[in-house]
Amino acid sequence: MTRVELHSVGKRYPARGRSGSETTAVDGVTLEVASGEIHAVIGYSGAGKSTLLRLVNGLERATSGRVIIDGEDITGYSEGQLRAVRSRIGMIFQQFNLFHSKTVAKNVEYPLAVSGTPRAERAGRVRELLEFVGLADHADFHIEQLSGGQKQRVGIARALATNPGLLLADEATSALDPDTSREVLQLLSRVNSELGITILLITHEMDVVREIAQRVTVMEGGRAVEQGEVFEVFSNPQTDTTRRFVSTALPTEPSATHLRELREKHRGKLVTLTFRDGSADQPVVFQTLADRGVGVSIVHGGITDVGGRSFGKLTLELIGEGLQVEHAIAALAQHAELEVLA
Ligand code: ADP
Repeated sequence: MTRVELHSVGKRYPARGRSGSETTAVDGVTLEVASGEIHAVIGYSGAGKSTLLRLVNGLERATSGRVIIDGEDITGYSEGQLRAVRSRIGMIFQQFNLFHSKTVAKNVEYPLAVSGTPRAERAGRVRELLEFVGLADHADFHIEQLSGGQKQRVGIARALATNPGLLLADEATSALDPDTSREVLQLLSRVNSELGITILLITHEMDVVREIAQRVTVMEGGRAVEQGEVFEVFSNPQTDTTRRFVSTALPTEPSATHLRELREKHRGKLVTLTFRDGSADQPVVFQTLADRGVGVSIVHGGITDVGGRSFGKLTLELIGEGLQVEHAIAALAQHAELEVLA
């Protein structure tokens, strides 16, 4: 298991051409990936995510700040020293980066050969890795005979070959369909829980973060704009960027346009309730409305799982006499986070 710390890390690229200007790809990012955790970095294209990963494995050098791996400050390391650090880090990619002319087994064996593992030991290790990723019966297949999900399984087996303490995943499921993507994410969860490998992954997909990460850093314009436990960050977003990501995968309030449509169909009072891991008990909410003789329809929203905890927003239409509804709203506000939609 490996711990990663970035302290105010910056990366500037010099201007390209005479008229170009310098690019600040990463701008003062402080980030700690605890030993054994799955940490996701999410952000739109150009936010600085890939540069951040390349700073962790020493493929790029920070122009400011410090990069520390397991307490070792690698910021000023020579290329030789960085190679030693890299040998303890596995990496998987969106496009898999496999050798197409080699078999599955040869792809997985490659890092073992490079690291000088004796030939006699390699076959056993390759078998063990292919069993772990569920491809033991595909050892002699060529890469082009595999589906995208199988290719990424080979990528994972290869990345694990030399027993790394840290796995870096660069958009590892972005090229896969949703079902295959889920299978690969489950495999990454096993890599973390069964093998105890720390995972730092970058993605632009909210579902990836929601499904497997414990902590998340949201990046925008090279900066870490939000950071914390996945549930805390996504159930209470502080920045527009995080809010936009949340709206792609979590239940939200209706948008302004959708609200206008809802109003045409529903004449009652519309309220949105936020359910944060039991903070508002659904039975209490519905009982309160029933006790006061207020009718209710759910018109928008839902409940979902975020970082293993439940989160939901339900927009309800409350049907009843004016005063009755007002009293019911006051009673509900005692139990739930509630917003009356104007
Ligand atoms: P992301 O992975 O979030 O899409 P990147 O880290 O690839 O973001 O890029 C962040 C910014 O740094 C972008 O503006 C990109 O154009 C710039 N950049 C990345 N790599 C280089 C490079 N080698 N030289 C110059 N600019 C770069």
